[in-house]
Amino acid sequence: MLKWGIDGDFGVLFSTAVSMPGDLAGRLKNKYSCDVVDWYSTTETGPIGYECRKKNGFHILPHDIYVEVIDKNNNPVEPGTKGEITVTGGRNPYLPMLRYRTGDFASIDNTPCPCGDHTPRLVGLSGRKPVLYIDGDGNPVNPVDIGRVLRTIPFLQHMMFQRTDKSFDIWIRPVTKDSRLNEDKIQEKLMLILGKKSIVRVHIDHELDVNMQTESFYDSEFGLFGD
Ligand SMILES: [Zn+2]
Repeated sequence: MLKWGIDGDFGVLFSTAVSMPGDLAGRLKNKYSCDVVDWYSTTETGPIGYECRKKNGFHILPHDIYVEVIDKNNNPVEPGTKGEITVTGGRNPYLPMLRYRTGDFASIDNTPCPCGDHTPRLVGLSGRKPVLYIDGDGNPVNPVDIGRVLRTIPFLQHMMFQRTDKSFDIWIRPVTKDSRLNEDKIQEKLMLILGKKSIVRVHIDHELDVNMQTESFYDSEFGLFGD
């Protein structure tokens, strides 16, 4: 909006998708003479917190999501200790979450905030890095677009990786044991967005739900861990 010189009369501006640099917030505030509020939100949950007006972290807002900060062993850490943000609950009835790891890190502060809002805060928030695939021509591909292509195929579950040699592997778990899916057709659909130069291997796996929870599966397929 700043770049294009878009004018407007706003009560407040919200920024939700990625973390907002402070100087950008300041420039927007100057230009539009309104508050600029940065949200911490995830695709899976929607908004989780808003940035304190006194810059003391992000106040946790929703009452229907339970926010915890946990360590590597899934134990909640003490307030003030940094860990991974997890959420329990969720607004999508088809995506119930139980200590769902967001990939974002922060510490929790339960002490009353000088700004007057006494809700707990996420302090020192550092967001997950965006994960992008690279197509055959070296251009980035958003995983969301893979999801859009797969939407036309009936399946229960899938998992997709890109190897360091840039080739892709995708595992798909059909709806029932008797379901038949055509690997070639799926590969064709994926090549539409990954490009003709990409190597895509499609695996139909009726046991994917079990296999993806087994570390040996990843070791045998990738040597993935520790790399
Ligand atoms: Zn505050």
